[in-house]
Amino acid sequence: MKDESQVKITLPDGSERFYPKGVTALEIALSISEGLARNVIAAKVNNEVWDPTRQITEDSLVKLLTWNDEDGKATFWHSSAHLLAEALEALYPGIKFGTGPSIEKGFYYDVDLGGQSISQEDFPKIEAKMLELARQKNEYIRKPISKAEAIDYFTKKGDEYKLELIDGLEDGSITLYEQGGFTDLCRGPHIPNTGFIKAAKLTNIAGAYWRNKQENKMLTRIYGITFPKAKELEEYVTLMEEAKKRDHRRLGKELELFAFSEKVGQGLPLWLPKGAMLRERLQAFLSKAQSRAGYTPVITPHIGSKDLYVTSGHWDKYGKDSFQPIKTPNLGEEYLLKPMNCPHHCEIYKTSPRSYKDLPLRFSEFGTVYRYEQSGELHGLTRVRGFTQDDAHIFCRPDQVKEEFIRVIDLVLYVFKSLGFDDYSAQISLRDPNNKEKYIGKDEDWEKAESAIIEAAAERGLSTVTELGEAAFYGPKLDFMVRDALGRKWQLGTIQVDYQLPQRFQLEYTGSDNQKHRPVMIHRAPFGSMERFTAILIENTAGQFPLWLSPDQIAILPISEKFADYAEDVFFQLQDHDIRGFVDHRDEKIGRKIRDAEVTKVPFMLIVGEKEAAEGKLSVRRKGEGDLGIMTIEEFTAFFKKEAAIA
Ligand SMILES: [Zn+2]
Ligand SMILES: [Zn+2]
Repeated sequence: MKDESQVKITLPDGSERFYPKGVTALEIALSISEGLARNVIAAKVNNEVWDPTRQITEDSLVKLLTWNDEDGKATFWHSSAHLLAEALEALYPGIKFGTGPSIEKGFYYDVDLGGQSISQEDFPKIEAKMLELARQKNEYIRKPISKAEAIDYFTKKGDEYKLELIDGLEDGSITLYEQGGFTDLCRGPHIPNTGFIKAAKLTNIAGAYWRNKQENKMLTRIYGITFPKAKELEEYVTLMEEAKKRDHRRLGKELELFAFSEKVGQGLPLWLPKGAMLRERLQAFLSKAQSRAGYTPVITPHIGSKDLYVTSGHWDKYGKDSFQPIKTPNLGEEYLLKPMNCPHHCEIYKTSPRSYKDLPLRFSEFGTVYRYEQSGELHGLTRVRGFTQDDAHIFCRPDQVKEEFIRVIDLVLYVFKSLGFDDYSAQISLRDPNNKEKYIGKDEDWEKAESAIIEAAAERGLSTVTELGEAAFYGPKLDFMVRDALGRKWQLGTIQVDYQLPQRFQLEYTGSDNQKHRPVMIHRAPFGSMERFTAILIENTAGQFPLWLSPDQIAILPISEKFADYAEDVFFQLQDHDIRGFVDHRDEKIGRKIRDAEVTKVPFMLIVGEKEAAEGKLSVRRKGEGDLGIMTIEEFTAFFKKEAAIA
């Protein structure tokens, strides 16, 4: 038992430890191991990221964060923005500072240079200054301060941007952070000291309006990235070069898969013929697997009455920030573009009385949904305003949750295997055991579902991490993370339990006891969306899709026009075997035809000339491998079929 002078600290694995009140995350780390303490750069205290040196005075859920945690990285990079500011102030005295957040990869700081100027040529000098200051191992010191004192400090400094920020803050909530000779207005958190930063690179410079408003002054935004090891920076630079080559926006254009049109609207992808074929094949592949796994397809409209989303809760939560209602001309009815398929599927559930014997029901739909994303957030196919989810909702009894999780895990793993994602792991997100009242649904149902997920993952041998307090308020979940060919992590395939929608829609089934019960709803989407998944697939394969998925599987290349008829004849025969491709009838040299087929990533090139035509054969080349020799059409089809088999 703890006494009054102690706090109870719950670690992510559920273990509980007692420490004196005022203990810091760094001290907790040290009590576990010195090695751990050396790597701790921040901590999640009751799901809020804190300085690892900040005192904990209440019973708390604590997760120690290192460079390997996303929140750890974010803290590291935000702290690096302070270091950049310190370096800039030393090199360009009198400049003024806007804000300096971390971003997905690195950080930036917005500055007002006054009469001075900075260009890319100045980057090495600034980077050197950052490293010089980093080597001083200056601590990031947190200083709570009154609003009046804060105003006084930045008035003396003459930084009107910080004064404007302070204006919007409540007295009593303001903190300054000081490291070395630099003081910033900041809420934190930060890493313990600048010495953790071992490598720094500035990556870009751009203009940005103060507080993102066009009527405001244009500031200079300097982007950078930092690392705890010099070697990691080298790896990052190599990775960036490779990533640029694999960028799905660039390959999507080169391979004629998709396009965007300002006239159609931002973030609304147009699938070109080759992309549409690719997508249809992905869809057919998953439909077949789902049909085997007991799913039944349903189809629902692209809009739904506003009332539907009031019931589901989406209107209250997202209505204001999303596409606004569509109104009918006469009766003034209001409809919304569908942001999610789930409410529609709940209504499908309600079309019949359900008994315990009917469950589970698994409704699947390639459902297109629309969500408003800020234009600055849009990115190729990964962030769009209209996309198609490979959605399904499973309605089951509480005692069926484990079996259903196992089945979904099997489906997701089959998808990964068939598409070449071999490196994956999973995260299980559970309740915060200290704050159970935050979650809806019955306590016993949560316990059952959480252990069902843990057991299902264990039975399928998944490598998992478990995060307490990361569950949605309406249910626990399991997320898959895949690592692509460049080592980048993507979240793919969420399986989410939901106790909320069945309640909001009053879903019921009659149990074996003849009483009414509430079913459990499970949301799942192995791809996530067709758009995002295609983007990931392009970047993972560099556009060299698995043979079964390739838009064009073969290119038949006649050496000259004389063999055009034979080429066509071969093409028809291969088409009979469902082999896709084309004949290159252009009046070009054979070397050129081969090169062009390689560039567009056609897996097989079939060259036909005098000898091949005379003997009824093909000269087979494989992209990236070269000559495979002469084959008869039958030999090639047999070989091809083996190569194109799924998984
Ligand atoms: Zn800060
Ligand atoms: Zn759903």
